[in-house]
Amino acid sequence: MPSSFFQHPNILRTKQHLKHTAERLIDQHVSLAVTGLSGSGKTAFITSLVNQLIEANEQANLPFFSVVSEQRLIGVKRDIQPDVTFNRFAYEDAMNNLHQETPIWPQSTSGISQIRLKIKFRKAQGLSQYITEDSTLTLDITDYPGEWLLDLPLLKMNYVEWLKQADLELNDSKRNELAAEYILAVSAIDFTQKADELVIQNVANLYKKYLLDCQSQGYQLLQPGRFILPGDLADAPVLQFFPIPKAIITSQNIDLDNPVKDSFLDLLITRFGHYKSEVVQPFYQHHFKGFDRQVILVDCLSALNRGYDSFHDLQKALDWLMGSFEYGSSNILRRLFKPKIDKLVFAASKADHITPDQQVNLVKLLDSMLHQARKQIQFDGVITESTTISAIRASQAGVSQLNGEEISVLKGKDTQGQEIILFPGEVPNTCPPRSFWDKQGFEFPKFSPPILGSSHNLPHIRLDQLLDFLIGDKML
Ligand code: GDP
Repeated sequence: MPSSFFQHPNILRTKQHLKHTAERLIDQHVSLAVTGLSGSGKTAFITSLVNQLIEANEQANLPFFSVVSEQRLIGVKRDIQPDVTFNRFAYEDAMNNLHQETPIWPQSTSGISQIRLKIKFRKAQGLSQYITEDSTLTLDITDYPGEWLLDLPLLKMNYVEWLKQADLELNDSKRNELAAEYILAVSAIDFTQKADELVIQNVANLYKKYLLDCQSQGYQLLQPGRFILPGDLADAPVLQFFPIPKAIITSQNIDLDNPVKDSFLDLLITRFGHYKSEVVQPFYQHHFKGFDRQVILVDCLSALNRGYDSFHDLQKALDWLMGSFEYGSSNILRRLFKPKIDKLVFAASKADHITPDQQVNLVKLLDSMLHQARKQIQFDGVITESTTISAIRASQAGVSQLNGEEISVLKGKDTQGQEIILFPGEVPNTCPPRSFWDKQGFEFPKFSPPILGSSHNLPHIRLDQLLDFLIGDKML
């Protein structure tokens, strides 16, 4: 016989049920997406973010992540990811690489991947404290190539319009030179003849090679984005098409508006349409649509190292990329669905390549690159933030003497593993004129990953502040 009314089985069951319902009501979910162009630091960033969370209670270096500094974090564990069509984010492989005797950087992003974390914490205040002892935030982190966002404008174009745009790129003499082999192969095709899939495949491969060569020369504005990072579509026919340069259209007198049925031209037009409807559009509709918060990593320092043209190309690519976050009424995405990203962070990555006194300039430089597009995003009601971070800090800052004066320096290991101490130079707060590069240019270093020894925590710069901005509000 129960001793009190409150211990009656029915009452206990109801209490239990109420507790579960309340827990469900207050448990939170955040879908965080991370992107950036190739080499911007996405894999290193997600690896470190996950590491900071999983190891947060042991020697954590997260003073600005309030749930940790207020000792409310109970524990974090990896859970089964929600989307089984994505690759699993290779966190364990990345940590194994970093924990080797001679550590190596994790393998870069090549497609879309995901990781789910369950974060258990105590609420800071409010009624919820009395309803349940602890809460859980489910954090899904999705990694995808920024190159894929460069394809958004394609949705507005037909094949003929795309040809005009692709032709503009060939006005650049360096790109034109790199395109020579592909142009030669295109000129050998009679576009009125019945299409031969193998010929199309060969020329598409040459076009892809041309784009990859452009990328290795520092160009970043490259379309179609999947030609650079195909994900799981590497050999699919939907990625086998290419633009016909204007010179060839003129010399062969090709009638773009009236393709002969089943001809080469007809197949190229069809493939371009399929690329939009089967690849670009589904990415936005099935994946992008579900993201709540977004981090965009920008490697400004490598672009400065590569020179004026590369820096401007990065700026142009960023403009295009940000088109995916402008939700004004004229935007294509508005026609597809209602986007829901409410917080957007632009982070200049690899801040351990510069001395601490140069970090303010790096944020200013990033802001100067984002200026116009960002105004539009703010207008659309998305909270934006720009910052500098280092996901995995591979250098130590210090001071040294030069001609009797103290200067800031960095100490780390170069890519050969040799210890170096250097002053990497000043970061400009806006893009310098072309003449600047003619005189001196930039030489920000590259470092080997840090030796972690027995430590489980990855060293970083400002990831705690970033975490607080991205998920702190969901853990109050
Ligand atoms: P992804 O292509 O965007 O996935 O780029 P990764 O995360 O693979 O980073 C590309 C390269 O940038 C790495 O192999 C490292 O050499 C370097 N890198 C990335 N993040 C950092 C960082 O925080 N510090 C340093 N020193 N190098 C970094």
